[in-house]
Amino acid sequence: MQVWKFGGTSVGKPERMHSIRDLITSDNSRKIVVLSALSGTTNALISIGESAKANQDSEAVEKIKALRDHYDVFVKELYSTEAGLAKGQEIVKNEFSFIRSLINIKPFTAKREKELVAEGELLSTQMFEAYLEEQGENSILLPALEFMRIDAEGEPELALIEERLTTILDQHPDKQLIITQGFICRNPRGEVDNLKRGGSDYTASLIGGAIRAEEIQIWTDIDGMHNNDPRIVKRTFPIRELTFEEAAELAYFGAKILHPSTITPAKMRGVPVRLKNTMQPDAPGTLIATSSSDREIKAIAAKDNITAIYVHSTRMLNAYGFLRRVFEIFEKYKTPVDMVTTSEVSVSVTIDNNEHLDAITAELREIADLEEHDRDQTIVCIVGNFSADKEGIAIKVLEALKDIPLRMISYGASEHNLSILIHSSLKDRALNALNERLFYYEDAMKDIFTAP
Ligand code: ADP
Ligand code: ASP
Ligand code: MG
Repeated sequence: MQVWKFGGTSVGKPERMHSIRDLITSDNSRKIVVLSALSGTTNALISIGESAKANQDSEAVEKIKALRDHYDVFVKELYSTEAGLAKGQEIVKNEFSFIRSLINIKPFTAKREKELVAEGELLSTQMFEAYLEEQGENSILLPALEFMRIDAEGEPELALIEERLTTILDQHPDKQLIITQGFICRNPRGEVDNLKRGGSDYTASLIGGAIRAEEIQIWTDIDGMHNNDPRIVKRTFPIRELTFEEAAELAYFGAKILHPSTITPAKMRGVPVRLKNTMQPDAPGTLIATSSSDREIKAIAAKDNITAIYVHSTRMLNAYGFLRRVFEIFEKYKTPVDMVTTSEVSVSVTIDNNEHLDAITAELREIADLEEHDRDQTIVCIVGNFSADKEGIAIKVLEALKDIPLRMISYGASEHNLSILIHSSLKDRALNALNERLFYYEDAMKDIFTAP
C-alpha cells in the first residue's frame, strides 16, 4: 500500500481535485490519500480566530462570509451531477454553521481555535470524498481524529496510531482509496489539536510508517526538493535523490517543501519518500531513501526567527559540568537548542522558540558572568555528503560568504551538515552567494578553461 499526500495548492481548485482523482486512479493500487486544506483556507481560519479572540465579532463574521463564498463557487465547479452538488452544498453548509457557532461561544479559547483551524482539512476531505463517490470510485473517508494522537509534549503516539489505524483499515479490506485529513489530530485530553503548520506532510509519513507502506508520496506544486529556496534564489534545480539524513536536515533547517518532522517516521521504518509535482506528474521529482548518489554538496536551506544566546563564564575554565548546567536550563523550559559553539570560557547556542526566553536568560545569568542574546538570526544550512575524505567544503562556503558577517559556524557534528548563523537581513544575499559558488562556479571555470 502507498500513502499519497496532496498539499494546499494541489487541492486548491476544482480542476485540481479532478486531476488528483485521475492521478490516484491511474493504477489499480490501494492507497491512503492524505489531503491538506484548500490553499489559503488555514490562513483564513487563523485570521477568523484572531478576530474572534479580539472580540471583533462582526469582522470575524465578514471573514467567514468571504471564505464561504469561495466554497460556494468551488462546489459548483467540482461536481457534475445534481446529487453530487447537493451533497457538496450540504457539507459546506454544515461545516460553516459549525464555524459560525464556534465564534459565538465566549471566551474564544485555545481549544475552540484548534477546532476552527481543523475545519480546513475537514472541508477538503469531505468534499473530495463526495466527488469520488459521485464519480463511482471505490473509496472511503477515514476521520484522522479517530487514529491520529499526540501526547502532552505534542509528539505523536506512534504505537497508538499504528494500533488504531490497522484496526480501522482491517474493517475496510475492499476499499481501494482511503481518504483522510492531514494536519489534524487529538491531544491527550481528547480535544482537537494539530501537528503545526504544514503538518499534513507529517501525517502522511506517520501513516506510512505505521502501516509500513511501500512508499510515501508528497505531491506539491514544485518538481521535488530543489538545491536552494526557489522563493529567494533564481537559479535552482531539483535534486533527484537524497538520503533520509540529508532530507531530514533540509526539512528541519527550513526547506518549506517538507514539514520539519516528516522524515523521522519514514526513516524509522525505512519507507522511501518521493516528492512529486501535481502540475507535472511525469517529472521525476525527488526520491528520499536510505542511500543516494554521491554528490558532495546537495542543497542549502535557511531557518529564520532564531535567537542566539551567548554565555560567558570564567567558571567554565578547566571545569567540567558547566555545559550540563547550561543545558539543564533549556531542558527545564522544554526549549530545544539547534546550534552550539564553544570557546575556552564561553558558549553560544541558538533556539527557535522564544516563549521562555526571559526565564532562560534570567537563569543563565545566575550561573554565568555575562549573558547576551540576539534575535532575528537565520541559520543557513548546507547539506550533503561531507564524509571525512571529502575536502574543501568549508573553504568554498566561507569564500562565498566572505562579505557577510558570520555569527556562528557549526561543522563536524554530522557528515552531512554545515551550519552558519547570520543576521536575517543578510539571508537572501547569503543564499544567492552560496548558490553561485557551490553549484555554478566550477562549471563556469571549466567553460573558461576549455574555451578555444
Ligand atoms: P504544500 O501546500 O503542497 O504543502 P508548500 O507550500 O508547503 O506546499 O511547499 C512547497 C513550496 O516550498 C514550494 O512551492 C517552494 O516555494 C517552497 N520551497 C522552499 N524551499 C524549497 C526547496 N528547497 N525545494 C522545493 N521547494 C521549496
Ligand atoms: N493546512 C495546514 C497548513 O496550512 C497543513 C498543511 O497544509 O500541511 O498549515
Ligand atoms: Mg506544506
